[in-house]
Amino acid sequence: MADVTHDAVIEQLRTVNDPELHKDLVTLNMIKDVKIDNGAVHVHVELTTPACPLKDQIGRDVENAVKRVNGVDSVTLEWSAQVRSSREAGTTQLPNVKNVIAVGAGKGGVGKSTVSVLLAYGLHRMGAKVGLMDADVYGPSIPTMTNVEGAKPTVRDNLMVPIDAGGVKIMSIGFMVERDKALIWRGPMVHGVVKQFLEQVDWGELDYLIVDLPPGTGDVPLTLAQSIPMTGSVIVCTPQDIALLDARRAVKMYEQLNVGCLGIIENMSYYLCPKCGHRDELFDHGGARNASDELSVPFLGEIPLNATIRVNSDKGAPEKTLAETEDYVRSAIEKVVTATAGQVSIKSQLQVMAPTLSIE
Ligand code: ADP
Repeated sequence: MADVTHDAVIEQLRTVNDPELHKDLVTLNMIKDVKIDNGAVHVHVELTTPACPLKDQIGRDVENAVKRVNGVDSVTLEWSAQVRSSREAGTTQLPNVKNVIAVGAGKGGVGKSTVSVLLAYGLHRMGAKVGLMDADVYGPSIPTMTNVEGAKPTVRDNLMVPIDAGGVKIMSIGFMVERDKALIWRGPMVHGVVKQFLEQVDWGELDYLIVDLPPGTGDVPLTLAQSIPMTGSVIVCTPQDIALLDARRAVKMYEQLNVGCLGIIENMSYYLCPKCGHRDELFDHGGARNASDELSVPFLGEIPLNATIRVNSDKGAPEKTLAETEDYVRSAIEKVVTATAGQVSIKSQLQVMAPTLSIE
């Protein structure tokens, strides 16, 4: 039988493209190790996010490619993940935060904060280091949704220490002001607080910082979007026409600010009756997917209207939604989380390529 060589395995791995990053795994530096023991080959693949939406496909492609090498009779895979940064090298604001994802909405009440929390805890559950910044001055609800209401951040070495809620680092305008008082805030004041959140909070090293922005396209979300160095925005909407109209406006606002839109998420997409299984599309359905097509931004998935999501949100127990809800709800949320992480990986790959492009 022919001896399997390291070079022959690598040559085959060069034929396997990451389906989203459109480059081969060797060029992307995702192959960390290849071990060969006669016909048994062991490949260590390092993903660009633990929430990789295409892990299964990459695994199958690697296996098939390596099996094409003469003499290989088995392939085992080892996985790890190293989140890559989408931020420019040398960024002074939040230098140890690899990616900043702003969650916005065209209007209030569509579940923007709920989705921010689910994104943060979903990414954390998959193994990422995550922070959640509540910049929704109109109604800072993140402390309630993560069960840290009333917490007061301590100060260490002149930096505020975020509150740890089940492994996710939380900072909220709600820790500084009473909820009802937050309503009278104006753009410049908000800008000051957000600057503090960026410069005087010890976020430590984070793979993802999720920022829950105020809804709408007015003065305050605009000021905030301009103050925070972002990887991109995610727009949450419900399927009604009116919500979609507002969502389109939000996508355009972020684009005008040069903050690319990572995609649109449709929340309260449909309702599945727990008793009879009937699917009801209360607010119509599919509008967000159509709007994404029309605006040429990715569609990141749909989250059903579900009582467990609401109950756990009120109780401040998002981990329960991710661990204990009905399968269809969990898998819908997982799809949204992995699709978002996938778009961030694409952004970070573009960032890696940026210097090369500018030289050419
Ligand atoms: P927004 O931040 O857009 O104002 P919230 O996240 O505060 O909206 O959500 C508004 C209400 O709707 C909350 O009570 C929340 O628990 C509920 N909610 C949000 N998304 C869902 C969902 N998919 N299923 C059930 N309830 C939801």
